[in-house]
Amino acid sequence: MVNEREKIGSLLIRYGFITEDDLTEGLKLQKLMGLKLGETLVKAGKIDEANVQWILSKQFDVPFVIVDQVHLDIDLIHKFPKNFLLENRIIPLLETHDEICIVTDDIFNYEAFAFIEKIFNKKVNISIGEAKRIENTLINFYKEDASPTVTILLQKTIEMIKETGFYRIDIHIQQHKCELNVYGNGVIRKVAEVNITLKKEDVFRALNMLETHYIYEMYDNYRTALFSVYPLFNTFKDIKYPAILGISGLILPNWTTFIDMKSSECEHLIHSDHPLYGYPYFAFKDSAIKYDRVIFIPDSAPKDFTNYYIFIYAPQRCNFCDTAGCEKCKQLGYIFKKIEGIYSSNELRGLFS
Ligand SMILES: [Zn+2]
Repeated sequence: MVNEREKIGSLLIRYGFITEDDLTEGLKLQKLMGLKLGETLVKAGKIDEANVQWILSKQFDVPFVIVDQVHLDIDLIHKFPKNFLLENRIIPLLETHDEICIVTDDIFNYEAFAFIEKIFNKKVNISIGEAKRIENTLINFYKEDASPTVTILLQKTIEMIKETGFYRIDIHIQQHKCELNVYGNGVIRKVAEVNITLKKEDVFRALNMLETHYIYEMYDNYRTALFSVYPLFNTFKDIKYPAILGISGLILPNWTTFIDMKSSECEHLIHSDHPLYGYPYFAFKDSAIKYDRVIFIPDSAPKDFTNYYIFIYAPQRCNFCDTAGCEKCKQLGYIFKKIEGIYSSNELRGLFS
């Protein structure tokens, strides 16, 4: 890597963009500023950024992209953690069956490329573009306001389902309305229906506004879209396996999510903020049985088991309103009994009734 970067210095000299002295000064400054050589030379006013990019593009045979003219693929951009794109100045442009095409100003950012390859299990195809333009494009993209209605609704819902058995929020966009349901432990509950015309982008933006981490799945067609959002706000450090966890916000530290979710064939899975840890063996049906550390959600747990670690909030019909929704049950229709410990399936069934 160092060699490649030094090569850029000599190339810039060869093409007459800088002098030997500029390079010596640049290399010194680079150490002080902790930047890349090209960036340092630009900052020091020795060279235009466009020249650096041109050289890089020539030297490494990487296409040069005029960032202002690219069409932004909203769905694709939202598949990436926001901070990851901003920090690494990467705009994902196109996803094919085996490639992710991106534009970046730093074609040596191997760590970031490896991260993308790992998440998507696809090759990264790199184009080069100007740093400032990439940065501005991303900032403008994320700056657009989210629909306050959706943001507030989501925030309230997330607050509402803490310490309940609901672990999933379904946002169903229809033609002139949007419906919000919560789901978990076999119970579905309608939270809101608003008569507004929403686009997928509105939901993405609202999700980005939230401080809670989440992963999501999305299904869409011409007129409607369904987002299933899993907010993450609980951390489990000491878990015994196998386990059944039925609470929203299942996070296990030190495990990378994306990869394992991928193995469960969840395509639309992304986190708003930074690479996600957690949901590593979020098992769907029996697809994760092959792992020795298995976590089930209640809906996918095996029928018969012994000695499972259980942490769930078991739903029980609210006696006061009989699921209609009242003050006592926070309008959820159910109250939730916390169950934690080692149980067999028989014992657990007893606790549910
Ligand atoms: Zn009630």
